[in-house]
Amino acid sequence: MKKPPIIWTNVLFFSITFLAAATLVPWYGFTHGFTSSHWLAFIACMFYAGMSITAGYHRLWAHKTYDAHPVVEFIFALGGAFALQNSALHWSSDHRVHHGQVDDPVKDPYAATNGFWYSHIGWMLRDYQGDSYSDYSNCRDLQRNKIVMWQHRHYMKLVLATNIGIPLVLGLMIGDVLAMLLLAGLLRLVLSQHFTFFINSVAHIWGSRPYTEKNTARDNGVLALFTYGEGYHNFHHIFASDYRNGIKWFHYDPTKWMIRAFAAVGLAKKLKRTPVERIEKAKAETLMNRTQNRLAKLPLAQDKLTLLQQEYDLLLKKLQHYCALKKQVLEVKKNNMLQQCEKSALMTQYHELEAAWENQKQAWLALNARLLKASFS
Ligand SMILES: [Zn+2]
Ligand SMILES: [Zn+2]
Repeated sequence: MKKPPIIWTNVLFFSITFLAAATLVPWYGFTHGFTSSHWLAFIACMFYAGMSITAGYHRLWAHKTYDAHPVVEFIFALGGAFALQNSALHWSSDHRVHHGQVDDPVKDPYAATNGFWYSHIGWMLRDYQGDSYSDYSNCRDLQRNKIVMWQHRHYMKLVLATNIGIPLVLGLMIGDVLAMLLLAGLLRLVLSQHFTFFINSVAHIWGSRPYTEKNTARDNGVLALFTYGEGYHNFHHIFASDYRNGIKWFHYDPTKWMIRAFAAVGLAKKLKRTPVERIEKAKAETLMNRTQNRLAKLPLAQDKLTLLQQEYDLLLKKLQHYCALKKQVLEVKKNNMLQQCEKSALMTQYHELEAAWENQKQAWLALNARLLKASFS
């Protein structure tokens, strides 16, 4: 099949900015030097552009995982133009298609199934979208958002104003305008773009799939460091309406922390979280399928498959009991409904169910590990 025509503006833009950053920044560093203030300003700009995409474009507008105060929306709209990844409306429209048609080599705009290069940047270098480029029918909600539409209408002006204005003002404040244009302007632009592109490429190739194996999305803690927490992409693809990507306390997800901080001071509300029961069930089911598929290749595996099914059913039962009581405990605490003695009886039962669920989970993981190991030997 004939490939669509090349979009030369994009090819030239990505090539020139990349080559300029790779040569001019080191040259200026060696000949004039950058101060620690320049580097700090560069890091601040990286976070501003990057997190306007992750917390704004992605989790706020594309997925509606929380509501934000208009001031926050306005700051994200400017930061999104600074990141130069198209308008929030366009970005969200592409991204919603990506989730709906994930991995479809034709319909998913940045399908990882078309290879690393295509999903990273290749999809923007040719006119793959053709007539559907400006079809925003999957974003009717955003078309009613005044800030999103204002940014969409004035996008190019905002791109120029932020990409020249912010480094210029920082340069005038700190000193050495050229150094700031190179670091906070050029280098920041190239790096923040590629760090976001990694989510479409690397996060669909490298990492683990604990929550679902139905698509290519991966969880990758290393990638989370470069993507402001978006490396936990396997979780994100199955629970896209959750404002978190890294759900454990030790997961590096600064986007989640920032949204929480906004909520604490009243700048964000209605933060959506996936119930623990659904998360644990998805994990158990994924592991169960993996072990079943492995065992299916072995002769005389019926006993093992039956044992696996029994333990899985038991696991879900204990999870269900534990979650039901947890809900009750939260309700009681919220409404202060019971007498002290009734409350302590309830808490004892709750801790028992929690321990039973934890024990069953450990036994379940051990059983799967044993069966998977046996299937290899
Ligand atoms: Zn994805
Ligand atoms: Zn997403």
